Amino acid sequence: MKVLVLGAGVVGTAAAWYLARDGHEITVIDRCPGAGLETSFANGGQVSPSHAEPWANPSVLPKVLKWLGREDAPLLFRWNRWDPALWAWGLRFLANCPGKRAEINLERTLRVALYSRTCLQELRAETGMDYDQRSLGILHVYRDRRQFDHAAAAADLMGRWGLRRLEKSAKDCVAIEPALAASADQLAGGIHTPEDESGDAHKFTTALAVLAEARGVQFRYGVTVRALVQDGDRVTGVETDSGRLTADAIVLAAGSFSPLLARSLGLRLPVVPAKGYSITLPVEGDGAPTVSITDDEYKMVYSRLGNRLRAAGTAEMTGYDTSLTPARWHLIRDRAKALFPLAGDYSKAEPWAGLRPVTPDSVPLLGATPVKGLYLDTGHGTLGWTMACGSGRIIADVIAGREPEIEMAGLGLERF
Ligand SMILES: Cc1cc2nc3c(=O)[nH]c(=O)nc-3n(C[C@H](O)[C@H](O)[C@H](O)COP(=O)(O)OP(=O)(O)OC[C@H]3O[C@@H](n4cnc5c(N)ncnc54)[C@H](O)[C@@H]3O)c2cc1C
Repeated sequence: MKVLVLGAGVVGTAAAWYLARDGHEITVIDRCPGAGLETSFANGGQVSPSHAEPWANPSVLPKVLKWLGREDAPLLFRWNRWDPALWAWGLRFLANCPGKRAEINLERTLRVALYSRTCLQELRAETGMDYDQRSLGILHVYRDRRQFDHAAAAADLMGRWGLRRLEKSAKDCVAIEPALAASADQLAGGIHTPEDESGDAHKFTTALAVLAEARGVQFRYGVTVRALVQDGDRVTGVETDSGRLTADAIVLAAGSFSPLLARSLGLRLPVVPAKGYSITLPVEGDGAPTVSITDDEYKMVYSRLGNRLRAAGTAEMTGYDTSLTPARWHLIRDRAKALFPLAGDYSKAEPWAGLRPVTPDSVPLLGATPVKGLYLDTGHGTLGWTMACGSGRIIADVIAGREPEIEMAGLGLERF
């Protein structure tokens, strides 16, 4: 079968890899000059099913109200823009906040994330690929006792669905990650997920693209898709700035830009961009963590990537703007410095911003659509790197007509 994959981020590249194993003729199209150069470029580096709690949950509304208008808010809505897609998304987000809904969404995300973590581990064993990975688990740390107790309850719930999470005292946290000693007096406790991992998503994506090319996948970089082309009830190809390409099947994996392309077929995808920032600095001495850390209060994550430290976080609903607002990335730098003062020279921190493709329920959009031949692999939000391999394998199964290895209920567009 001739398959076009739209987008060479971590999600599209992983899909191409798994599709190639089925012997299809695959072409991946991306407007960038290489793989993984947009949102998959400098993310938090975590492979973290432990981070599966959806943004929409009962505790978020009081927090968002408290943060309104504050430039240092972990989640910032800039509602002064008249954007009907953002408002429609916001209403659906609100509908997903009640506890029962949040629990359903947590299970769905965790289902994909856990499966994906296993797929990634198998892929690594099969290919021997190296992307500054570390399999030391992820430690969530808490300063506030109430937040710690809330997280412990969520950890119990995740435990029921197969994620091993262990409660730790502040002293235990420092034993797991000695670089926390410098800020131990701030901590109320932590939760350790020993099987979670970290690594450089961009290195992973470029390495996987090379492996996929060796399997016959063609990557067409520097090509912009303008629209999808339909004949009757079936998608037949794409219109690009370099001409028309035809296909038997198309996988839409264009991250935050997926809804703009789907619109050309009249499909409305509830995915909006949520801007986040990271900094990357060279590590000096032994003050930087080696275990990946999540600071739940500030919604920040830390990953050690070789001799670099990556700190990432915050979310800003501000459309497709990727400019680096100094106040926002300085916030990341200053919070990183407060937790790990001796990690390195913070004046050398390199800032970056990317657009997470977020759905209102935090569950990705996977599988077939009402348009025959068009498949979705998008909307992975905060966990695109975590869920890329599992999602790619699912899409390959669906296109091949095989039963995916996990239950697909609640993962597709039909839930909206
Ligand atoms: C600050 C931050 C921290 C994060 N931390 C983590 C983390 O620790 N763990 C985790 O799992 N996830 C994390 N994420 C989320 C993760 O990075 C994303 O979910 C993931 O990168 C999305 O991958 P993607 O392939 O769907 O999108 P992208 O990487 O954006 O790829 C989409 C590709 O489609 C191409 N494209 C779009 N439109 C067109 C077009 N019209 N024509 C041609 N090409 C097109 C783009 O050029 C791009 O290369 C983080 C995100 C941010 C912003």
